[in-house]
Amino acid sequence: MASLSNSTTHWRQLDAQHHLHPFSDTKSLNAEGVRVITGAKGSYIFDSEGNKILDGMSGLWCSQVGHGRSEIVEAIAAQLHQLDYYNTFFKTTHPGAAELAAAIAKVAPDGMNHVFFTSGGSEAVDTVIRMVRHYWDAMGQPSKSIFISRRNAYHGSTVGGASLGGMRPMHGQGGLPIPGIIHVQQPYWWGEGGEMTPEDFGLACAWEVARAIDEAGPENVAAFIGEPIQGAGGVIIPPANYWPEVERICRERNVLLVCDEVICGFGRTGEWFGSQLMGVAPDIITFAKGITSGYFPLGGVIVGDRVAEGFIEKGGEFHHGYTYSAHPGGCAAALANLKIMEDEKLVERVKSDIGPYLQNQWLKLAEHPLVGEARMVGLIGALELTPHKPSRARFAAEEGTIGLICRDISLKNGLVMRAVRDSMVLAPPFTLSRAEADELVEIARRVLDRTYQELNARQLMIPVPRIGSAARA
Ligand SMILES: *Cc1c(COP(=O)(O)O)cnc(C)c1O
Repeated sequence: MASLSNSTTHWRQLDAQHHLHPFSDTKSLNAEGVRVITGAKGSYIFDSEGNKILDGMSGLWCSQVGHGRSEIVEAIAAQLHQLDYYNTFFKTTHPGAAELAAAIAKVAPDGMNHVFFTSGGSEAVDTVIRMVRHYWDAMGQPSKSIFISRRNAYHGSTVGGASLGGMRPMHGQGGLPIPGIIHVQQPYWWGEGGEMTPEDFGLACAWEVARAIDEAGPENVAAFIGEPIQGAGGVIIPPANYWPEVERICRERNVLLVCDEVICGFGRTGEWFGSQLMGVAPDIITFAKGITSGYFPLGGVIVGDRVAEGFIEKGGEFHHGYTYSAHPGGCAAALANLKIMEDEKLVERVKSDIGPYLQNQWLKLAEHPLVGEARMVGLIGALELTPHKPSRARFAAEEGTIGLICRDISLKNGLVMRAVRDSMVLAPPFTLSRAEADELVEIARRVLDRTYQELNARQLMIPVPRIGSAARA
């Protein structure tokens, strides 16, 4: 890069010397130099070099109401002036915790009226592992302890969450996964559906859940967990018949259904919860990210009445909780965030205004020679990059190479898109204006053109077919 400002150089130096970044190769990051984000407003972020960048990822899937909303900032400040902190362990609560639990129950699917708070999504997922096993124990079925999850699922980064998730690179470090988890096929038709139709593939994936439960014995299986739409795995939108069939299979076998809604929850898909879009009624929902639009770390678990009753009546003391469970600042942020979402009807806006408006243009990007599939529901979408569309081919270069090239070009052109393998994913704020949506697609198209030029120039458009070969991973 050309000459950097003194402050950028200063922060880069401190960062390189002292800051270990999540999901990063510190050595190569330090060599390249980290980007310093210094501000954010509405749909944009600003870096220390004065660049204005359209935040197509809502931070990390969380800025539902956009950046810089003083209503939320002031609500947090007012709460901390009144009560900065107190725990919710020792027979105590505080007004914000009680109000927020009730507010979540109000927007949650019918029959889901109980909330356990955590500081984020990984802790919510870990809470599910402990809560569900404790529930079955309390119900006199202690053998029901196995979880069924999917390969390429993301359920967070703690030992429990990373184990439940199906990310191979994460399992490759630190001796994961923990025992008691079975991973099955993900419903990723574009990448792994081979010559099947999406419908046949949706059913085949659901039946893998049945097979896994039956092989382990339903009397040993506690729950199935899945993201309604896999987010970090690449915005994988399953065939429409997948989730209802998974639900039927779980009910038939007395296995609890857990939806990890850390990304899909709180409006991302145009419904309050992604499970509603998929037409299923989970027993348990995990949430985080969008509940506070990222203004304060807070997550939790919404428990359906049937499980909650057993848990409360028969469970006794639950030996589990976090210092920051229901932190007053997080509760204030969430309440202010939910108020904005309701006042500005943002979930409806995603469903029937800005969602369809952006989808209409985004799906047309599939006409680009580099794009094999464009998909989006609500405000969450992806582009599958491919060197050969008819065979849904992958690139001969090491997986992820092309995605990173495209992501870097995107940032240079003023748009945050995230690369997952060799696909690009997008999840902009719900407050995105129509003009910003137009700008977003215009930049995305330019980014695809430039990526295509660069791949051709570097002779990287070499296909490895997926169909007609061993397509299933
Ligand atoms: C982000 C995410 C998590 C983890 O949440 P953290 O707040 O990072 O701990 C869990 N599940 C899903 C589906 C996520 O997207």
